[in-house]
Amino acid sequence: MNKLKQILDKIKDLFMFREGGDTDNYLIPPQVTSGSILWGILIRSAVIIIITIILVVALNKRELAWFGVFIFWLGVAYPAYRQYTEFNKRVNVLQEETLCGKCKYFVKESQLCSALDEHISKDNIPCDGEMWEANMDLF
Ligand code: SF4
Repeated sequence: MNKLKQILDKIKDLFMFREGGDTDNYLIPPQVTSGSILWGILIRSAVIIIITIILVVALNKRELAWFGVFIFWLGVAYPAYRQYTEFNKRVNVLQEETLCGKCKYFVKESQLCSALDEHISKDNIPCDGEMWEANMDLF
């Protein structure tokens, strides 16, 4: 059972299916960012498109392309939607609860300080607040 879980976790990591969660607000670098979601979309799309093309050509059945579309929705679009929803919820909390979240250098999509090019977290303010400047859009 443990072995099966390990294999499933490896597949999740390989194809970037991880949804992340509150712990990402403490991790440097976070597991899930908008970049990792996009990367997962590209990897999974490429795999599904290649397999679909191979099957359509090898079996000479064009109808299989519809199966590819269904698998695309199931394996790419829906997981990406879930990942993005979860990511947005989590990063909104981070923005609310940290000094960096209200700073003009904070890049929400990548959980990054653009001035220092470093990830931030609830436990880590890379400049220790010394470079903080208000993000006027939030006030
Ligand atoms: S400048 Fe400082 S306060 Fe602002 S985002 Fe970067 S680390 Fe956070």
